[in-house]
Amino acid sequence: MAVPKDLIEIMACPLCKADVRHRPEPEAILCTRPECGLVFRVQDDIPVMLIEEAQRPCPGCGAQREWDEKNEAVRCAKCGTAYRYERK
Ligand SMILES: [Zn+2]
Ligand SMILES: [Zn+2]
Repeated sequence: MAVPKDLIEIMACPLCKADVRHRPEPEAILCTRPECGLVFRVQDDIPVMLIEEAQRPCPGCGAQREWDEKNEAVRCAKCGTAYRYERK
């Protein structure tokens, strides 16, 4: 069993509404918008599309970024890339 392809096609990033794609190893759902790039885990073949639980790797260097809940912005401690999330 895996995440159904047609399900991935109708899903969108819950934050920026961009398309998402499936990554087999390690299994995850990835936002295709480079500046957003949220990574959602898959649990028992069900994608967990929760903004609060998503990982936010840096688009510049891939490091995990700190998530500033109040400002809805992230800043990479490693390369300094900052990105402000806009909910749509
Ligand atoms: Zn996104
Ligand atoms: Zn970085």
